[in-house]
Amino acid sequence: MDFQLTEQQQLIRDMARSFAEGELVQRAARMDRESALDREVLAKMSELGLWGLTVPEAYGGFGLGNLELALVLEEINRGCASTGVTLSVHNSLLGAPLNKWGSEEQRRTWLPKLATGEVLGAYCLTEPNAGSDAGSLRTSAKRVGEQWVLNGTKVWVTNGGTCGVMIVYARTGTAESRAKGISAFLVPKDTPGVSVGKHELKCGIRASSTTEILLDNVRLPLSALIGKEGEGFTIAMDTLDGGRIGIAAQAVGIGRACLEAAIKYAKEREQFGQPIGNFQAIQWKIADMSTRLDAARLLVHKAAWLRDRGERCTREAAAAKLYASQTANFCADEALQIHGGAGYTDHFQVERLFRDARITEIYEGATDIQRIVISRAVMA
Ligand SMILES: Cc1cc2nc3c(=O)[nH]c(=O)nc-3n(C[C@H](O)[C@H](O)[C@H](O)COP(=O)(O)OP(=O)(O)OC[C@H]3O[C@@H](n4cnc5c(N)ncnc54)[C@H](O)[C@@H]3O)c2cc1C
Repeated sequence: MDFQLTEQQQLIRDMARSFAEGELVQRAARMDRESALDREVLAKMSELGLWGLTVPEAYGGFGLGNLELALVLEEINRGCASTGVTLSVHNSLLGAPLNKWGSEEQRRTWLPKLATGEVLGAYCLTEPNAGSDAGSLRTSAKRVGEQWVLNGTKVWVTNGGTCGVMIVYARTGTAESRAKGISAFLVPKDTPGVSVGKHELKCGIRASSTTEILLDNVRLPLSALIGKEGEGFTIAMDTLDGGRIGIAAQAVGIGRACLEAAIKYAKEREQFGQPIGNFQAIQWKIADMSTRLDAARLLVHKAAWLRDRGERCTREAAAAKLYASQTANFCADEALQIHGGAGYTDHFQVERLFRDARITEIYEGATDIQRIVISRAVMA
């Protein structure tokens, strides 16, 4: 067993860390206030090649694995969780399944544009009546001659407003066929019939785009199918194994930002004639935050390592997501408490971190769903 990162992994992590420190930390509050990502930041991420981290070199990316992506995501999310989720969804929920399950033509057309960030990606699974129970989705895909015709409404689509291409999961079988009747389609956003519906106003990660995607008689060539007909749910779930590692890394990044903010404040703020960090009650909070973050990071790295070896990591990814997201919320709560009244205002970033941490327990499978996945595997 070796806990040491390779020299390349350390370089990549350090590059992301200095980018986050130099470009994201000071802008995160403004992005949150304006509910919009900073275009200059996105362009710099293109220069650094971050959009194409896991895209194979043959298509213009770095060809790196889930572990390197997790290292980068922790750093980016430590700086700005809105930027972090945009990057995570782009790499894990669009780039990865396209590369794994897509045809050579689909890969050649889209991966080079995804690698540079010229085009952002999105993942459309959730519907108004199909959230945790994604297998009950109703968006339909009917084969008409040499075309697929899609109709339906997708909700809560991350990058919905900013993406250029998305994977849409739609029903090609009967309603009774449940998960077995679902197929995956690659849909360019400028296809006639595709439109962006409501832009959601959110509690946290406000600068990231979350929208409805409306599909009204969207005609696609037969080649738009990803994988085989009826394979969509398998693709969606396999994709989420990778995505959950990304969200778990996001949670570690947010939690670390909370810990660092708490330590800084505890050393500066004086009460009863001394820094509050001298009080054991505060020290214990910091010890617990630090320990839980270490454990969460190990779970993230283990799941990423397994996935990079080509091994199934459904349980490990769910465990990393479950524990890291709870840890992010624990750290956000403790950090806010350490800041006292000031933490409840926008004078300090912990107020935003507290809001940002919350989503990590909801998207890509809520906490209860991770528990179902884990217990199913453990009890089998
Ligand atoms: C900001 C944001 C971004 C998102 N981005 C995307 C995206 O890019 N693409 C996409 O497809 N989706 C996206 N989602 C959707 C997200 O994955 C869902 O919100 C999530 O899966 C939960 O579904 P739901 O909101 O319908 O909650 P529900 O399924 O209605 O669940 C409500 C509550 O009931 C619990 N629950 C449900 N079933 C069970 C059960 N069997 N046992 C115990 N408890 C249960 C849940 O844990 C939850 O606490 C996003 C959501 C948000 C808020």
